Amino acid sequence: MKLNHENIKEVKNKLIYPSELFINGKYQKSISEKSFENISPINGHKVNSVSFAQKEDIDLAVKKAREIFNKGTWSNLPPNQRKKILLKFAQLLERDRLELSLLDTIDMGKTINDTFNADLPTSIDNIEWYAEIIDKLFDDISPSSSEYMGLITKEPIGVVAAIVPWNYPLWMAIWKIAPALITGNSVILKPAEQSPMSAIKIGAMLSEAGLPDGVFSVLAGDGPTTGKSLCLHNDIDCVAFTGSGEVGKLVLQYSGQSNMKRVQLECGGKSPNIIFADCANLDLAAEASAYAIFGNQGEVCSAGSRLIVQKEIENDFIKKVSEISKNMQPSDPLNPNSFAGAIVNTEQLEKIDRYVNIGKKEGAYLEVGGNITMKDTGGSYFEPTIFRNVSNDMKIAQEEIFGPVLSTISFSSFKEAILIANDSQYGLAAGVWTKDINKAIKASREIKAGTVYINNYEEGVDSTIPLGGYKQSGIGRDNGPQALENYLQVKSTWIKIT
Ligand code: NAD
Repeated sequence: MKLNHENIKEVKNKLIYPSELFINGKYQKSISEKSFENISPINGHKVNSVSFAQKEDIDLAVKKAREIFNKGTWSNLPPNQRKKILLKFAQLLERDRLELSLLDTIDMGKTINDTFNADLPTSIDNIEWYAEIIDKLFDDISPSSSEYMGLITKEPIGVVAAIVPWNYPLWMAIWKIAPALITGNSVILKPAEQSPMSAIKIGAMLSEAGLPDGVFSVLAGDGPTTGKSLCLHNDIDCVAFTGSGEVGKLVLQYSGQSNMKRVQLECGGKSPNIIFADCANLDLAAEASAYAIFGNQGEVCSAGSRLIVQKEIENDFIKKVSEISKNMQPSDPLNPNSFAGAIVNTEQLEKIDRYVNIGKKEGAYLEVGGNITMKDTGGSYFEPTIFRNVSNDMKIAQEEIFGPVLSTISFSSFKEAILIANDSQYGLAAGVWTKDINKAIKASREIKAGTVYINNYEEGVDSTIPLGGYKQSGIGRDNGPQALENYLQVKSTWIKIT
């Protein structure tokens, strides 16, 4: 289906806004009947009231998740049958693609073009990829003495809580759900309070695909109540978390305070994008560099938020990026032709504005943008913003802003570029642009980041390649076969042969 004004309007008019918890195969209100208001950043209007999961809802969901796990209905189902159910789920996501895209756009303000043409297809691909891999993996036999046979097998870890952010609501959830479910676990999903609707909707879709009741639950709620209670729960075996480093550190503490549950963390970044003067195509690099920070309104964990440019091309290159940014202004997220949409909420908008003021005070030069815009809509919008003459010790070069704000820093030598790139608490991603293959490989080896993009920035990302961070960008990986390890235990069995 191709997106146009007519089909958007038609589906939006019939849209049902999901609002309840999903536990043991059915929708229900929070036992306490508590709820929270869900506001759309497109216009500041209330969308609905969403049930707010409290400790007793969590206890119920965990109990059901544990019961079904122990029964083996899903955990012991042969992999090729689990595969069929997840493939069916992928088909259902395709069927409801526009509806789910609208829910995410209305919830967090990103454009319908992004949700429909990027988030949904990549989510579907991710589910299909994990479904297809699961019945092609083998366990191991150790090279031990002939008197023994040592079996090394993998088992599902048990009950997994997936706690996810709002910047790609469905997509980030799928990155956890697909590998966790396919390995036979029970999964409790906690979406971000800013973007709960698509997560709630997929509860019924997984049931429709044939997932047994209890295996998957959705508990909407905030971090300090719902998220924290999940992390402290003694009958949850693993928390798979995507979000800020600040909360990631709390999740590690909660694990230590409770049952030492396994913790996987995908956290923030302040990723360097290095442009060497010998880059073969500076126009292409400028286009990609602008996209790397202004795409998804800059609300991207791996955004290329530090543009590190070699001195001799600095002026020309920043000029090119500035020109391109003029076509990356925010506009109505529900218009299929919009490039960028709204910032998730007023708190995040104010945070971005605060950082722009900090950048000015720190002495960086504001080259482009720097303002809240589209105030008449009642929504939250910010202009693409570029600072130059940034030094890497400034706050705007060290702290994650999570908005459309680019800090440009210049360098003279290869060594200096790598020093600047690595001078960060984060290590999620990096870009390197050069036509010298030796320089590119050397840079890739020396940069402390989970992913290095050479002569592109995030262009070819798909489900096959693991994604995750060095340093305070996280622990473990999403995507690729590596992500399965988050959700598996290793069992060693010694058999004596007599
Ligand atoms: P956040 O850390 O505020 O929230 C993330 C999730 O954690 C939400 O569901 C929230 O409700 C929950 N939470 C908050 N406090 C909690 C607590 N005390 N205990 C348990 N759960 C709690 O992050 P955010 O603002 O939703 O998302 C933005 C952050 O996510 C950025 O730092 C971004 O870089 C990061 N992110 C990382 C990746 C990655 O793959 N590395 C991907 C997307 C986003």
